[in-house]
Amino acid sequence: MDGRALAARIREGVAAEVSELGELGLATVLVGDDPASQLYIRRKHEAAREVGISTRDLHLPEETSEEDVLALVRDLNNDDGVDGVLVQLPLPRQIDEARVIGAVDPVKDVDGFHPVNAGQLYLGRPAHVSATPLGIMALLEEYGVPLEGARTVVIGRSDIVGKPIALLLLHANATVTILHSRSRDLTAHTLEADVVVAAVGQKGLLARNMVKEGAAVVDVGMNRTEEGLFGDVDPDVSERAGLMTPVPGGVGPMTIAMLLRSTVRAARFRRGVLAFP
Ligand code: NAP
Repeated sequence: MDGRALAARIREGVAAEVSELGELGLATVLVGDDPASQLYIRRKHEAAREVGISTRDLHLPEETSEEDVLALVRDLNNDDGVDGVLVQLPLPRQIDEARVIGAVDPVKDVDGFHPVNAGQLYLGRPAHVSATPLGIMALLEEYGVPLEGARTVVIGRSDIVGKPIALLLLHANATVTILHSRSRDLTAHTLEADVVVAAVGQKGLLARNMVKEGAAVVDVGMNRTEEGLFGDVDPDVSERAGLMTPVPGGVGPMTIAMLLRSTVRAARFRRGVLAFP
């Protein structure tokens, strides 16, 4: 499943929507100098600018207090030129992530992490949804993977990937099993699955002998090693899987494309073109 190609098409669509809507703004907040976070932020800015979304890069020092981050988020909430606000995680230890996420205006919360947006997803009335799960659903749809009644296994239960993708699959009428670090016998579950989503952060966790012939396999993992970037799925799995996302070039580019789409959605909510659920 070629995430790069689909993401490029989605970005083209977003560019057309942006020129229709007029000025759009995305603000990112980065606290500290984590190299991976800086890379992600840079990519998001580049992609946003390419489709005509203006960006604001707010970079605060590592030792910034929680109060100062909250004050900045409030300013962005009140800033009419800002449609989307994204706080890059993880935040330094002195800052309570939940409080910062909860301070973002839910209408501008393009990451979909605010409790209101997480709750709306739970209730099946999604407003803003986390970009990675949205990207996975778009890929499965693009490749015609049937979900109705399908056996799907999600490995990982994070608030950012595992839980929201499990809910989206459930809302698409799949039968969903969620595996995590305390689950026993992963293989017993994965071998039965028509669709496996691996979102763990362990290189090669899903091996060839764990996958049913012809299954669709989505690899969310991004494990950086000295030898390069690796997913959670062993490349050998492609010999058994019917469809599989590569790393890189699968879920990664889709995440950025869906974030741009969410920024357009936020602009629509803010302009009253679309009702915020
Ligand atoms: P996370 O918050 O660290 O969650 C990892 C999950 O994996 C946890 O639920 C954990 O279980 C589970 N787990 C750990 N070891 C396991 C094992 N041996 N067997 C089964 N489950 C196990 O990570 P995340 O934020 O969801 O990210 C997961 C991976 O996706 C990372 O590599 C991350 O870099 C990548 N990622 C990629 C994108 C993208 O755009 N491509 C976006 C987001 C994340 P417990 O809950 O029991 O601890």
